[in-house]
Amino acid sequence: MFDKLKNAFKSLTNTIVNSITTTELSEDKLNEIRDELFMQLVESDVAVDVADAISNAIVNYLRGLKVPRFGDKESVIKNGIIDIMSKLFSDIPDVDFMSEVIRLLQMKKPVVLLFLGPNGYGKTTTIAKITHQLMKRGYTAVWAAADTYRAGAIEQLEGHATKLGVRVIKHGYGSDPAAVAYDAINHAKVRGIDYVMIDTAGRMHTDINLMNELSKIQRVSRPDLSIFIADALLGNEALDIAKYYSKYVKIDGLIVTKVDAYPKGGAILTFLYELKKPIYFLGVGQGYDDLRPFSKAEFFRQLIL
Ligand code: GDP
Ligand code: GDP
Repeated sequence: MFDKLKNAFKSLTNTIVNSITTTELSEDKLNEIRDELFMQLVESDVAVDVADAISNAIVNYLRGLKVPRFGDKESVIKNGIIDIMSKLFSDIPDVDFMSEVIRLLQMKKPVVLLFLGPNGYGKTTTIAKITHQLMKRGYTAVWAAADTYRAGAIEQLEGHATKLGVRVIKHGYGSDPAAVAYDAINHAKVRGIDYVMIDTAGRMHTDINLMNELSKIQRVSRPDLSIFIADALLGNEALDIAKYYSKYVKIDGLIVTKVDAYPKGGAILTFLYELKKPIYFLGVGQGYDDLRPFSKAEFFRQLIL
């Protein structure tokens, strides 16, 4: 995974290892390294601002750097770059999603999870995957079909629910989605169900009516976590839509889907840097087990080491 992004860092370390000696890198060489890295990051789908920030930070680290004549230059440099990346992204926490939602359950029941994002990004599949993970650990869940707008949305959710054996709370199309969410939470309270997952409507374009609707769902359901589902393949579009959403609704964290079909990898850095929200999971396929916990530290090691 992320082969293109990995190659960008690999060619960076190769260039540095080949050029650095016991003397410092020249200013010309540093400029060359910066431009080359910037280009490769942008080609790997990293947004221009983010690519700029990364290449500047790395070149600043390299300026004046001397490595010992003997010893493992490569690992000194790679670990240095990991440090720089960790600093640059230090304001985004790593959250272990499963531990977090299980911890929340010690304090309240049900725990309410709200899923946000445009149609087609993988919202219902992700709800199913997370539910499957929780059910494997012995927890129970109920779903709220709070996309009462798009024809077929309720049936799509029910398709997954039947496979997993989960109850779906639904009203008709055109009904108030906040009321559906409210009912699902009450259902969970009465039945002692652990988790309520709320599916919501999404559109590919910005839409103030939708934002008002989502904001009402959030006010009424008071979710413990509101999760934006971001399609890696639509990096820039997903970023713009997430920024638009975050003006109207609170987003606690992201799940990035379709990473299995996305060798570029750069959107992950872009989402982190631009949205400053933790990424809980990467979606890595269509099966219910195709969900991988994400941690920045692990991601940087994977890219650079
Ligand atoms: P929704 O409209 O946001 O609820 O999107 P769906 O959950 O229906 O997903 C849209 C399509 O993307 C479906 O064909 C899913 O199987 C597929 N999909 C979702 N997540 C992933 C993923 O992580 N990897 C791949 N390859 N496909 C995914
Ligand atoms: P099992 O009962 O958990 O062994 O699941 P199955 O044998 O039915 O499915 C094999 C794999 O496909 C598992 O990872 C399931 O989670 C996943 N899976 C099953 N049905 C579906 C489905 O309708 N949609 C998706 N996206 N994954 C599914």
